[in-house]
Amino acid sequence: MANPADRALLCLCLTSPTLQGNLSILEAHGKYADIVELRVDCLTGDERAHAGRLPSLTALPAILTVRRAADGGLFDEGEADRIGLLRRLVGAGFAYVDLEEDLRAPDLEGAGAPRTRAPRVIRSLHDPVGIPEDLEGRLRALARTPREIPKVAVTPRSSAELSRLLEAAEGVFSARPEKIILGLGEAGFCTRVLAARIGSKLGYALAAEISAAPDRADPRTLAEMYRFHSVSPGTPVYGVIGNPISHSLSPLIHNRGLAALGLDAVYVPFLVDEPAAFMPAAARLGVKGLSVTIPHKQAVIPLLARRDALVEAAGACNTMLRDDGWSGTNTDVEGFLSPLREAFSGRIASPLHAVVLGAGGAARGVMAALCSVGARVLVLNRGVEKAMSLASEYGAQWGPLDETGAARAQGADLIVNATSVGMGDDGTNAEPLPWCRFSGRETVYDLAYGSRETAMLRRARAAGCRTISGLRMLLAQAFLQFRIFTGREYPPVLRGELEREADAGGLSRP
Ligand code: NAP
Repeated sequence: MANPADRALLCLCLTSPTLQGNLSILEAHGKYADIVELRVDCLTGDERAHAGRLPSLTALPAILTVRRAADGGLFDEGEADRIGLLRRLVGAGFAYVDLEEDLRAPDLEGAGAPRTRAPRVIRSLHDPVGIPEDLEGRLRALARTPREIPKVAVTPRSSAELSRLLEAAEGVFSARPEKIILGLGEAGFCTRVLAARIGSKLGYALAAEISAAPDRADPRTLAEMYRFHSVSPGTPVYGVIGNPISHSLSPLIHNRGLAALGLDAVYVPFLVDEPAAFMPAAARLGVKGLSVTIPHKQAVIPLLARRDALVEAAGACNTMLRDDGWSGTNTDVEGFLSPLREAFSGRIASPLHAVVLGAGGAARGVMAALCSVGARVLVLNRGVEKAMSLASEYGAQWGPLDETGAARAQGADLIVNATSVGMGDDGTNAEPLPWCRFSGRETVYDLAYGSRETAMLRRARAAGCRTISGLRMLLAQAFLQFRIFTGREYPPVLRGELEREADAGGLSRP
């Protein structure tokens, strides 16, 4: 595979317990990879004897690794045995050998009698559970000769730790033309996609069938959805911050649009516990725009240098754009209204009698949207005080989310679920207002979504109601964000495809 100097190589980790298992992984995923890492420690004892055959069974260059348990590997038979195993395998045609920072074995490092097939040394620092206190010092001491490639593979547990990792690697490795930087765990997922952006020679992928890595670190997803091989040090980066984030469909929606337009840009999910602590990492990663999801839509507001009237009206920001500081807007408001207008064939009935279930961040955006079209709203929430507080801000009525609230909802034109009940696949049988008997003339709009239609929408549709899925809102707000981020319209054909998939119950992941 052509690999310009500023692109990273996609490394497929071979972690099967058998050589045959690894060959099957290679057959299934090798086409996405540029290099493989044979994790000899993952092979069973008998299989380790055959490990030296691997380089001759693949056209891809191979890294020899025998990772010990303390570094997150499976080798626990002592250092003497491990070095003995490395010695037996090192001349078998591997292009690289991964040796830890504290390993002293001059013969493995290429010293002594010259060997024609001596692999290059990757000198690695591992922390499978966190980040060492003295990360900078440890990185500085890492590569002993200019020919060695320093590698850091540690586990950021927070946004602050991700920022620390990127800062230390950038500072210490700045003069090294070749280095490997890997953040393990979900908070470090971005380092896999953005290997080229952060100057890492390799981005690591694991085959999904045996992967213990975060969702989406499989070679096909990295290569196709994130277009790993197109990312360069200058590629503009967009993404979504949230906690949790692995379920987010936004990377799928945005990356499909970027790819369809052939734009040099990538969209990455960031697991963020604290938005302020993530900002140094965002700057180092060259992040130009962010979608913001639960629970950060309010927390990011103090970080904004500028915010527009939509953020003010909704009291929440779901879109950030970086130029000279961050500016914030909100596409949830229009994203909510757009499918509603479509359902009402362009004209929302006036006055619209609406019932909003929930009084959290999403309900606030829904209130701003409904009030902008002159709707009369009843807010029902489990916590009645929150219902009262939100309703009074918008001159609306309020009540409890129970049987008495349901009685007051009868006869409404529009019922909107903005609670988290029914969200995701676990909750698809739960309903926020099971006591409500639909007459068939209501429009029922459920912000919650999963991979199937929610129970509330199923029941409403069966009663003859017009229904709108939360996926429609997700798509509508994402298409608006896409225009804000790229200055381009989301490709109409792809847009239609996604809308049809959403109406059929769910978006299919690649
Ligand atoms: P939030 O601020 O945490 O508010 C959660 C709301 O759900 C509160 O009103 C809460 O009531 C209620 N709730 C939670 N568990 C409940 C239960 N077991 N029974 C009854 N009510 C319950 O969250 P949010 O940001 O508003 O998001 C709400 C939902 O909207 C989420 O599922 C989110 O994914 C979805 N959403 C979808 C889109 C989209 O594009 N489709 C956009 C934004 C949000 P209490 O106040 O009583 O706790």
